[in-house]
Amino acid sequence: MRAAMDKANRAGADMVEFRLDYLAEAPDENALKTLLEDKPLPAIVTYRPKRQGGLFAGDESGRLKILAAAVRAGCDYIDVELDVPPSNRPKGPTIISHHDFTGLPADLGRIVAELNASDADVCKIVFAAAGPEDALAALEILSNTGKPTIALAMGEAGLASRILAGKFGAFGTFASLNEGAESAPGQLTVEQMKNLYRWESIGAATSVYGVIGCPVAHSMSPAIHNAAFAIEGLGAVYVPLRIEPGAENFTRFMDAVAGAPWADFRGFSVTIPHKENAIAAVARASRPCGSQTDSQADSQTDSQADSRAGRPCHEYLDELSVRIGAINTIAIAPDGSLSGTNTDYAAAIDALCSAMEIGREDLGGRRVAVIGAGGVARAIVAALAHYGADVTIYNRTFSRAEKLADEFDCTARPLDDVVKIADDIIVNCTSIGMTPNIDASPVPSDVLSRARVVFDTIYNPVRTRLLREASDAGCLTVSGVDMFVNQAVAQFEFWTGKSAPRNLMRKVVTDRLDMRR
Ligand code: NAP
Repeated sequence: MRAAMDKANRAGADMVEFRLDYLAEAPDENALKTLLEDKPLPAIVTYRPKRQGGLFAGDESGRLKILAAAVRAGCDYIDVELDVPPSNRPKGPTIISHHDFTGLPADLGRIVAELNASDADVCKIVFAAAGPEDALAALEILSNTGKPTIALAMGEAGLASRILAGKFGAFGTFASLNEGAESAPGQLTVEQMKNLYRWESIGAATSVYGVIGCPVAHSMSPAIHNAAFAIEGLGAVYVPLRIEPGAENFTRFMDAVAGAPWADFRGFSVTIPHKENAIAAVARASRPCGSQTDSQADSQTDSQADSRAGRPCHEYLDELSVRIGAINTIAIAPDGSLSGTNTDYAAAIDALCSAMEIGREDLGGRRVAVIGAGGVARAIVAALAHYGADVTIYNRTFSRAEKLADEFDCTARPLDDVVKIADDIIVNCTSIGMTPNIDASPVPSDVLSRARVVFDTIYNPVRTRLLREASDAGCLTVSGVDMFVNQAVAQFEFWTGKSAPRNLMRKVVTDRLDMRR
């Protein structure tokens, strides 16, 4: 524990918590003195019982005696649970805490009031988050309290509460020394908290952005956007927001955001499985209040949504995003109004056009083979069709290819027909060739020499087998990394109205991909 404290000090922690319940044997007073003598950092001593999510299962009076000994040995705070009767609590500087590992307590208000009324030097409330709206519930406690307080929502869904604690004046947040050493679900490491999320630079005026998806833990977006905000000197932070699949879960979070203007949310990236839910949320939010019920609104088409908003569609959703029926970007204005766009389609066709040194309008009449009929294919087909390209869609599930082709006036072919491709441009929108299946390719190599340009939307690995073989066949190649960077650049610009630091953002992506290799 002493060595771990020195490591925490070197990592830049401001304080350490010793969890005595993680020790195999209870320490005596001498051991505590050795631990706390000449400590380089202020220290909290915690001896958490099982009933509050800890590991200690022994005698309660012995546990409280050891906490009293920790005070005598010179710790800065002991953590004592709210359920310990006040007359039994050891004397000394105290954090009084309450933990709920099952979810948001139904009687949260009562617990917070009890903590505030106690003689705690610091109040602490921690509960498991079902969605990121529970992180907002924790942050709301911080913004309303007059006492030094720690309020955290545990688990991946609650991550925002850990990162944003400083914005709302929390006494502190918790971070682990390294991955695998977490003392509660959802803890980030000290290194992530300080370098990725820039804990020290987060304050009351910080604007908040985030990536909504499920899963989001391995998203590269926090690294890209936080680096971009930092280099541009913007007072903004970007956090992961895990929302379980389902429109109702997405709506619950967006309603919580609408009810929490004090949280300063200014924008979201939206990824699988919520891109359709995101466009519905933006269309719904533009409806004048009280004009109709949500179920009436949900049953309407997008064009009806446009007219009911009483303002033209392009004010809050661009035409192609509406045709695609999915968006990956939401901006929130200071008055709470939402606007959205799909930066995937623009990112993809701009990656293609810039490699070919042509404008979007020059795609007109070009023959393009799109392989795949999922979400990415849909965005790319919509954009290619919009700019007049002659598109053929090849897909494993032929009915999906047919449906997409019908919608955008293209041709559909079964995936086996890729051997017959004789188009100018080939775009892979399937996951064939993606890590870990890097030896796979959606198109046989002898077909590639008939094409001029091959674009693989996969970005991991950067050089897929398809791109390597296309290059050998003399084709111009376009990597999914270009598309990935373009969509992040477009999001940054949509939110901030400023030109994005493209080179830095590309470097963050390629460095991260290198690290994963
Ligand atoms: P999606 O909606 O799940 O669609 C997946 C597509 O791949 C479907 O057409 C599916 O065919 C096909 N497919 C999957 N496995 C296959 C296999 N073993 N054999 C044949 N076809 C297969 O996914 P998405 O969101 O469109 O993403 C597709 C790819 O785009 C991802 O793998 C990713 O690499 C890439 N992507 C790139 C970026 C970027 O910024 N560069 C961003 C997002 C995604 P069925 O219809 O028959 O199932």
